[in-house]
Amino acid sequence: MRVLLLGGTSEARALAQTLHPTVDIVSSLAGRVPDPALPVGPVRIGGFGGVDGLRRWLRDERIDAVVDATHPFAATMTAHAADVCTELGIPHLVLARPAWAPGDAIVVASDVEAAETVAKQHYSRVFLTTGRSGVTAFAGSDAWFLIRAVTAPDPALLPRHHRLVLSRGPYRYDSELSLLRRHRIDVLVTKNSGGAMTRPKLDAAAAQGIPVVMVARPPLPPGVTAVGTVDEAANWVAALAIAIG
Ligand code: NAP
Repeated sequence: MRVLLLGGTSEARALAQTLHPTVDIVSSLAGRVPDPALPVGPVRIGGFGGVDGLRRWLRDERIDAVVDATHPFAATMTAHAADVCTELGIPHLVLARPAWAPGDAIVVASDVEAAETVAKQHYSRVFLTTGRSGVTAFAGSDAWFLIRAVTAPDPALLPRHHRLVLSRGPYRYDSELSLLRRHRIDVLVTKNSGGAMTRPKLDAAAAQGIPVVMVARPPLPPGVTAVGTVDEAANWVAALAIAIG
């Protein structure tokens, strides 16, 4: 059985580690991050070329099953995989780490809504952690931003007053707390990415009484089978391998 593992997350790397070399897997990365953390086993990098490209690739590579372990906000890739697998009758599973409980956060549906909330509430020192593409919605803001992202956003789309920090998690509670204090942050803006690696910023904000604006996850395509842990995904693959024979 040959499995495409749509990756770019720590869960995808952990699943590759669990399956390889017992199962014939190929991991796929979007290719946006320079020097990405690579999973074990065969890896391909870059988009497939939309639905048509993905359909062609799955056929050419004789893929028997797809596990979509992309980032919870990678909605386009997830929709393409669900559509093409349904069409071709390829077993398909989404591995999505559980979302964070929003608690007292102001939950919004998009980056644009997050920017509107920041403006409406007159927050002036914003810790912005919504990623390279999430920054764009704040381009016209007069507030000051501490922007933390894995890869640099387009400089033309950055807000006027900001400091850019390029880094990737995991982050520790103590350093998140001192970051919030040092920069006198008055609001944290985050996606509901879930997981432990970037969770400490929420705990640090709560400890400091700093409000959180949280962008809700895009919904999964209707009818997809989804699990929340690497073990469940590995079990799904194992059961399928037995069924296929
Ligand atoms: P997306 O909007 O779902 O994907 C856009 C296109 O990128 C897809 O249509 C596909 O191109 C390609 N792509 C995405 N994931 C791929 C994969 N694993 N293998 C091959 N091609 C892939 O996702 P995104 O642009 O990567 O990210 C959307 C949001 O998720 C952003 O807010 C980003 O910050 C966040 N995020 C994503 C990742 C990730 O690894 N994808 C990691 C961290 C955060 P084709 O149509 O050409 O096939």
